[in-house]
Amino acid sequence: MSKQGKIKNGNNKAKHTKLLNQKKNKIREAKALNKQRLKTLITKSNLFKQYCSCGSDNLYGDCCAVAHKNVELVTTAEQLMRSRYTAYVLGDVEYLMKSHHSSTCPIKEKNEILKWTKSVKWLKLEVLNINKGGVSDMEGSVEFKAHFEDNGVAELIHENSKFNRENNHWVYLGEL
Ligand SMILES: [Zn+2]
Repeated sequence: MSKQGKIKNGNNKAKHTKLLNQKKNKIREAKALNKQRLKTLITKSNLFKQYCSCGSDNLYGDCCAVAHKNVELVTTAEQLMRSRYTAYVLGDVEYLMKSHHSSTCPIKEKNEILKWTKSVKWLKLEVLNINKGGVSDMEGSVEFKAHFEDNGVAELIHENSKFNRENNHWVYLGEL
């Protein structure tokens, strides 16, 4: 074998090793991605079988998950209020925007809301009073207390929220 041939061979070998490593890395990445996908699926299916965070005594899959999948299926203002609380618990900021009246929707604060809600520990929702907001109503209000912990400090949001309908479904308008 000539000297040049040896160098060429060596180069080819290096190229081959590089390609092989690239291929290995790709397989490793694909495996990691699959693992992550599976983990998300399992977490989601576990979540569906857990009691809903809104405190309704129903499983999440039969409760706020229905609203989170399709907000148009929400029939009352109370349901929308509960599903919004659960969306805060889950960090589902898209749903928070979708279930907000367009005139008051804090779309610019979306990322801040997500950051904040993920930084606190949601504890409990108490629905205190419901005024209208039924299946055949066009508006209504729900008074609630949402308990959470912020950096180990117990906090509380006590609000009487106003709801009405927009685009054929219930939406949150703001504080009464
Ligand atoms: Zn629920």
